[in-house]
Amino acid sequence: MDDIEPTSQTDAWAPSERLMRMALQQAQCAADEGEVPVGAVIVQGQRLVAKAYNQMELLKDPTAHAEILAITQAAAALEDWRLEETVMYVSKEPCPMCAGAIVQARIPIVVWALTDPQRGGAMSLFNMFENPALNHQVQWVSGFLEEDAKKMFQGFFRELREERARKAEITVAARRGASNRRASPQ
Ligand SMILES: [Zn+2]
Repeated sequence: MDDIEPTSQTDAWAPSERLMRMALQQAQCAADEGEVPVGAVIVQGQRLVAKAYNQMELLKDPTAHAEILAITQAAAALEDWRLEETVMYVSKEPCPMCAGAIVQARIPIVVWALTDPQRGGAMSLFNMFENPALNHQVQWVSGFLEEDAKKMFQGFFRELREERARKAEITVAARRGASNRRASPQ
């Protein structure tokens, strides 16, 4: 834990380890179903108003990211599109689409575990959370329980690569079988 130094812009407020663990559990549900392990929860005070995980493959929907599903759930629970006084916990830095939705939903604070330098939309590739051109700025905490999330992502992508390699081998073997059959004299 000592190597984790959350960069926090908020002062008299500390992120909850329990809630991030809940988001990571959601991410694990996604991984178990072959989805990229992104999980999100939203709370308003002590009240849990949403928990969701990535369902892009299941729903065949490019917008079915954990954060978007959680925002929709929270808006339904609060009967308001403005998710004021809420906090989102998510296993990785939101992508540009989700960062945009978070701004639209006026979520005041987002806490994520794994920072995504290549695709992150909050403060990495795009800096959506502090963009003066937008009418809402989001406070954020990055790298909270990052090691746990990193292990989960690395495990997921390792398995994915292994599975792809296995499938490629089967395909090559099948092709080889087919060409052998063609080559053999009748
Ligand atoms: Zn996203």
